Amino acid sequence: MIPMGNRDKLKDKQRIVVKIGSSSLTHPETGDMNLEKMERLVRVLADWSNQGKDVVLVSSGAIAVGRKTMNLTERPKEKSVKQACAAIGQTRLMMVYQRLFSEYNKVPAQLLLTKLTMLRDENRRNARANFKELLSMGVIPIVNENDTVVTDEIEFGDNDTLSAIVAALINADLLILLSDIDGLYTDNPRINPEAKLISEVTYITDELESMAKGAGSDVGTGGMATKITAARIANDAGADMVICNANDVTKLRDILAGEEVGTLFCAHKNPDFHILKYVTAEKE
Ligand code: GLU
Repeated sequence: MIPMGNRDKLKDKQRIVVKIGSSSLTHPETGDMNLEKMERLVRVLADWSNQGKDVVLVSSGAIAVGRKTMNLTERPKEKSVKQACAAIGQTRLMMVYQRLFSEYNKVPAQLLLTKLTMLRDENRRNARANFKELLSMGVIPIVNENDTVVTDEIEFGDNDTLSAIVAALINADLLILLSDIDGLYTDNPRINPEAKLISEVTYITDELESMAKGAGSDVGTGGMATKITAARIANDAGADMVICNANDVTKLRDILAGEEVGTLFCAHKNPDFHILKYVTAEKE
């Protein structure tokens, strides 16, 4: 019998966390929401839910959508403006998700988390129990950092890390990061045309980490380095992780069909895994 490849194993995934970043949710030309992409994404997630899978969406975009709503031409730098934008944008985002999911008879729920939610044992247990309850109801939790209340000292700051922590919290077996790049390359493909896409990473080595000096973008906060951090957390917790390009979200289906899309980081569960190893009160 031919042994099952790591890609084939993705067919059986049951609890999936998908993260989409701000730059993927908005049109670069205008900063407005990319409704078609959101619609396609929601359709895939709703269909996975119809197949009996547990689905969680970690969605950025609150600050970007709020900024556009208030017609701010530049990414806000001041904390108070960022927090105001997040408060404005989060409700807009949820309004759109609510509407799109309800077209497929699906119920989304909003969960806004902070580092403190993870650091305090009781909060962390509550958050886990809440996810469990929602998933057992067939609800699709939509997660973001609670940007309007976090302080510089105590924020995740990027949803790549947050999504990996969520995957670990709920024992997800797969985390998918939808990005503005196809996956992990041997070098920065925006600078080096010879850079090659890496299809599979069995172990994250130091050499590999140094390859991950991807540039961030104007609207999101995650570069490739935060994605490697996310992979370390997810893999250690026992979840596979895939980075793939958000330009065609229907590729999500191909990932679950075992096709070679993006970069797969293979899980190797650490029996001593604990979230508190990865979430500290200090600013990283
Ligand atoms: N939580 C931020 C937002 O919704 C985004 C963080 C990130 O870009 O990863 O705007």
